[in-house]
Amino acid sequence: MISFELSDEQKELQRLAREFTAKEIVPKAAHHDEKGEFPMEIAKKAWELGLMNTHVPQDCGGMGLGVLDGSIVTEELAYGCTGICTAMEANHLATAPVLVAGSDEQKKKYLGKLVSDFTFAAYCVTEPNAGSDVAAIRTTAKKVGNEYVINGSKMWITNGSVADWYFVLAVTDPAAKHKGLTGFIVDAKSPGITVGKKEWNMGQRASDTRGITFEDVKVPATNLLGKEGDGFKIAMGAFDHTRPSVAAGAVGLARRAMDEAINYSQTRKTFGQPIAAYQGVSFMIADMAKDIEAARMLVWRAAWEIDQGRRNTKFAAFAKAFAADMAMRVATDAVQVHGGYGYSSEYPVEKLMRDAKIYQIYEGTSQIQRLIIAKEIFER
Ligand SMILES: Cc1cc2nc3c(=O)[nH]c(=O)nc-3n(C[C@H](O)[C@H](O)[C@H](O)COP(=O)(O)OP(=O)(O)OC[C@H]3O[C@@H](n4cnc5c(N)ncnc54)[C@H](O)[C@@H]3O)c2cc1C
Repeated sequence: MISFELSDEQKELQRLAREFTAKEIVPKAAHHDEKGEFPMEIAKKAWELGLMNTHVPQDCGGMGLGVLDGSIVTEELAYGCTGICTAMEANHLATAPVLVAGSDEQKKKYLGKLVSDFTFAAYCVTEPNAGSDVAAIRTTAKKVGNEYVINGSKMWITNGSVADWYFVLAVTDPAAKHKGLTGFIVDAKSPGITVGKKEWNMGQRASDTRGITFEDVKVPATNLLGKEGDGFKIAMGAFDHTRPSVAAGAVGLARRAMDEAINYSQTRKTFGQPIAAYQGVSFMIADMAKDIEAARMLVWRAAWEIDQGRRNTKFAAFAKAFAADMAMRVATDAVQVHGGYGYSSEYPVEKLMRDAKIYQIYEGTSQIQRLIIAKEIFER
C-alpha cells in the first residue's frame, strides 16, 4: 500500500520545525552568513526542543525517530538557512557510524551524551589528498598494548572546533587497501589533537569547517568500532542513513529559493506587467515546483527504505544526486528571476545560490553518486 500522507506525529514534528525556522533561523541567517558565526544559541534552542539528534535510539535516552522523520525536520530547518542546518545536522553524520557498528556500551556513552548534554560530534574521514577516494587516506592507527596511536591530518571537518568527540577513519593495515581501514571514536580533548582555523567557504558560512591534526593521539582499544578492517564499510554505510537527510536539506533550500522567486515575480513589473505574467518567468517557477516535488519523493523513498531495514544505497544516491543538482539549478534560476537584484546580497537568493553548491560536493560529490548508481545497476 502506498500513502503520501504523513502521520500525525510527523505533521506535528514538521509544524514544530517550521515554526522554529520562521522564528529562530530566518531572521538570523544573514547575520550568521555575513559574520561566519557558529549558531550556538540557535542550536541550543533546537536541541532543547528535540529538533537535533532525532535518530538517537530510545535506549540511549533519545527519541529513536526514523530517517524519514529526521528528513522532514531537516527540510524545514534548511528552508531557513542551510549553513545553520548543517551545523546542527553534522551530528547525524558523526553518529551514523556508531549507529551502524557501535556496541551497546559505545552507543549509550557517545550517542547518549548528545541527548543528555548539549554537545556536538564530527565525522573525520576526508584528508588533504583523499576525498572521493576514501581508500587513499593516510592517517594511521597503530596498536600499542591496549591502545591505538593515531597520526595524520583530516580536512574539511564540519563542527571540527565544537565537537566533543570525533568518528575517525584510519589505516591499520596499509597493504589491505580499503579493507585495512578502521573506525574509532576519539575524544576531542585527547592530547595531540590540533584544530585548524575556520575555513572561509563560498557558502554555508554559519557551519564550522576545519582541518584537524592528530599527533600521537592515544585512543583506548575499547573505542574501536566493529573490528579492525571494518572501517571503510562502516564509514560508507553511514551515508545510507545520512544522504536522505542531506538531500532533504537541498529540498528545503530549493523550496525557499522558489518562494523568494514567486514573491518577487509577483511584485516586480516590466513593460507594465508583473514578470510572473511572462511565460519565460512562470515556466522557470513551474520547473522549480515540479523538480522540488520529485526530489522530495526521492528523499522520502530513500528514507523509507532504510526505515524498513532495507538496503537503500541506490535510493540514497538517487536522492542525494537529484536533490543537490536540482537545488543548484533552482537557486540559480531564482537569482535569474530577480535580475540584477538577485546578484546583490540585498536579496536572500544570492546566499541561497552560494549555499546550494556544497550539496553537489559534500557527503559524496554528484559524480560519486552517479558512480554508486552505475555500480548498483551493473554489479548487483
Ligand atoms: C564545506 C565542506 C564540509 C565538509 N564536511 C566534511 C566532514 O564533516 N567530514 C569529512 O570527512 N569530509 C567533509 N568534507 C569533504 C567532502 O566530503 C569532500 O570534499 C568530497 O567528498 C570531495 O572530495 P575532494 O574535495 O577531495 O574532491 P576530489 O575527490 O579530489 O574530487 C575532485 C573532482 O573530481 C571528481 N571525481 C573524483 N573521482 C571521480 C571519479 N571516480 N569519477 C568521476 N569524477 C570523480 C569529483 O566529483 C570532483 O568533481 C566537507 C567538504 C566541504 C567543502
